[in-house]
Amino acid sequence: MTAAVREFVAGLDSEAFPAYVYDLAELRSQLEAVRTALPPRVELYYAAKANPEAAVLTAMRGIVDGYEVSSGGELAHVHEVVPEARLAFGGPGKTAAEIALALRTGVHRWHVESVQEIHQLAGALTATPDVTLDILLRVNLPVTAGSLDSVSLAMGGRPSPFGLDPEGADECMRLLSGPLGEQLRLQGINAHLASGLGASEQLLLAEQIVEWSKLFAEHYGHTLNEVNVGGGMAVDYADPGARFDWTAFGAGLEKLLDWHPGLTLRLEPGRALTAYCGWYVTEVLDVKRSHGEDFAVLKGGTHHLRTPATKGHDQPFTVLPVTAWPHPWQRPAARGLVTLTGQLCTPKDVLASRVPVGVIRAADRVLFELAGAYAWNISHHNFLMHPPPTFHFLP
Ligand SMILES: *Cc1c(COP(=O)(O)O)cnc(C)c1O
Repeated sequence: MTAAVREFVAGLDSEAFPAYVYDLAELRSQLEAVRTALPPRVELYYAAKANPEAAVLTAMRGIVDGYEVSSGGELAHVHEVVPEARLAFGGPGKTAAEIALALRTGVHRWHVESVQEIHQLAGALTATPDVTLDILLRVNLPVTAGSLDSVSLAMGGRPSPFGLDPEGADECMRLLSGPLGEQLRLQGINAHLASGLGASEQLLLAEQIVEWSKLFAEHYGHTLNEVNVGGGMAVDYADPGARFDWTAFGAGLEKLLDWHPGLTLRLEPGRALTAYCGWYVTEVLDVKRSHGEDFAVLKGGTHHLRTPATKGHDQPFTVLPVTAWPHPWQRPAARGLVTLTGQLCTPKDVLASRVPVGVIRAADRVLFELAGAYAWNISHHNFLMHPPPTFHFLP
């Protein structure tokens, strides 16, 4: 944890827990390091779905080149918080209302996810023939999974509802070859194919996406202006000190760009940009032994921090000991391997399972790390109707 967070948490009263604490100065300095590691011809967009807190979006102003939004809700929210920002609008299953909103708001890039979406856009634009839209086709292109064995290609190179198969991209090109192509101006390709990739794997993927896009564009005699190679940069929950190697990735992208003069690359990471700037902090309500195993029951739980339950990992944490024990009875405590649960009446409410702690006692504080992305905003807040956490943004 950062010094600012440590000091802030030490000063919090018990009633403030559970609490989300964000260190925005830390976020900015990490983002600046990422930006510095990337060549100028690489644009850095932030995928807002990882953490759309207004203070987080605002803190990124001037460091990121834009924001990727994947719903009408995200689009309206991000546009309100950072009105001057460039937006890339993606996401499957865009409704007529979302399309109308995006056209009203104006987006910098539109990521087309299906053949039907071209028809929907053509329909929505008939009334305004002078309006043009810069689009990328989001393609679920074939990547040689053999070279990417160690990763989960969760979204691409296999059946998925995301993006177009290459045949669908061909059909889009047929539709765009007429006058519609002057209104929907194809700038290039978007491919978000995987998540949890290290720098060398991510680079391999980027090379394959650029290569495929180049051949695709050449086939149609089209100038390829830009390729958005997606997000998915790894965050290692088992090793919170590890970081995606942006320097190596940036150097690799620079070489790739040397081979493709005139091409702009764009990235749209979420998790790897904000995971490290947020903490979920709470206190131990009870410690108990059950059939030979120890459990610490924490105030809050996976309805606030669902990440470990959805991803199946132990959320890394630090125990902050509290000396005072105001009660006349013996303080519940455990040593060695302990399972950290929340207050929900389900066995799935586990934040970390059978993890070593020196000692953990009722009233101690627990600070979970890597809680700045896909944490509060993906959690099922109303299940069991416990009160929400408090939120704190350190400037
Ligand atoms: C979720 C998402 C991202 C961001 O992914 P991370 O794993 O958070 O980096 C980028 N692009 C698209 C299209 C997404 O759906």
